[in-house]
Amino acid sequence: MKVKTSPECPKCGHRMKRFPPGRKDEYHVHCAECDYDFGRFDYFQAQFRHAIEELEEQLQRRDTADDDRG
Ligand SMILES: [Zn+2]
Repeated sequence: MKVKTSPECPKCGHRMKRFPPGRKDEYHVHCAECDYDFGRFDYFQAQFRHAIEELEEQLQRRDTADDDRG
């Protein structure tokens, strides 16, 4: 799953990230552009809580949009 969210990649400056398919702690979050390793998902989650909240907000919005279409 690719999601555009902060923070920017320290290597290439892109905000697009590849998120793990699940929520298991051993998964890593990578930059979608250059494959920079942001670290383990649980670490990322703790350090960039706002990014996760942003991501969940986007997912919720997508769910709501799907519901509206019926
Ligand atoms: Zn990058």
